[in-house]
Amino acid sequence: MSSSVGKPGADEPDADENPPEARWWADDPDDEAAYEQYDESSVRVRPNPKGNRPRTKIRPEHEDAVIGRVLGVDRGRYSVLVAEGSSAERQVTSTRARELRRQAVVTGDRVDLVGDVSGADGTLSRIVRIRERTTLLRRSADDTDEVERIVVANADQMLIVIAAADPEPRTRLVDRYLVAAYDAGIAPLLCITKTDLADPGPFLANFAGLDLPVFRSAQGAVPLEDLAAALAGHDTVAVGHSGVGKSTLVNALVPGADRATGQVNAVTGRGRHTSSSTVSLRLTTSAGNGWVIDTPGVRSFGLGHVATENILKAFTDLDAIAQRCPRGCTHLPDAPDCAIIEAVDAGELGPAGAARLHSLQRLLSTNTA
Ligand code: GDP
Ligand code: ZN
Repeated sequence: MSSSVGKPGADEPDADENPPEARWWADDPDDEAAYEQYDESSVRVRPNPKGNRPRTKIRPEHEDAVIGRVLGVDRGRYSVLVAEGSSAERQVTSTRARELRRQAVVTGDRVDLVGDVSGADGTLSRIVRIRERTTLLRRSADDTDEVERIVVANADQMLIVIAAADPEPRTRLVDRYLVAAYDAGIAPLLCITKTDLADPGPFLANFAGLDLPVFRSAQGAVPLEDLAAALAGHDTVAVGHSGVGKSTLVNALVPGADRATGQVNAVTGRGRHTSSSTVSLRLTTSAGNGWVIDTPGVRSFGLGHVATENILKAFTDLDAIAQRCPRGCTHLPDAPDCAIIEAVDAGELGPAGAARLHSLQRLLSTNTA
């Protein structure tokens, strides 16, 4: 790959990326229509005196591409699973094509691959397209970064791991995970570990107002069956501060995962070996299969772009009432004429209403705090 060669626009297309018979197309459907006037031969001889690539967003079409799931990324090499679930399933190693150099390819991405996709030792394929993502978690909120700080794509669940003690649980940390999950349209689950060390009841009371499935785990008593049932059929990203027992949990769920436990460097937050990068682990349970995406070293997610509406969507009942709120209502305690606050005060939401409103308000302030 000559991905770093030449100035932009001054380089010859890679021979293998642009075989002479390749058709050209435009990303923009309108442009595409405009190019229909050219038949293939005219495209091939289209004058280009300086030998430059066209400056429009024209891309070669890779009709022979196969789809794969990105399992992990290590120093610019992507492990991609092809033909998932079939007898031809295999893992291939890929690089990222030059046309994707400004886009991050992350664990969980569905990508189109060309080149050698046999999966044989020493072979390399190339990622030429990222399929549309259903969800994405960003590490940073800073969108001015040239490099996208996406951590995981296409997860539909988030397993938040928190310890009842050692380290002491913090409500705000869980709130930040919850907000990131709700904002991304990912359903959160909470697993509280080390319940052998402390009673998790008082801490969990903070989340009583949420529709949040909670699992309790203790030394030698991991709720494997319950967790497996909740994770089967899903792509679940596991998050948690180092030391909470996430690796212990992942190893119990996915035998052979070999996530390093108890080896965490207090300064870097990184495990010694296997658990230093984000990886997808296949979950096989009697309740069905799924994927667990472990994210070591990711302590929190950027919340800079979180929209109030996205958090409110996680509270279906309150969201319905919010339709009666004044325009631009913050739903915070000082919001004038907030319909949600009035409904809760009037007892419309029953005895749990106050806790639910309080949870919503806490998460809404997490956004801006
Ligand atoms: P990670 O950094 O979140 O991956 O945490 P580890 O899985 O490496 O666990 C950190 C430490 O907590 C290890 O020494 C584990 O043996 C211990 N640990 C994990 N789960 C429990 C638990 O439920 N109870 C107790 N008492 N210790 C646990
Ligand atoms: Zn309101």
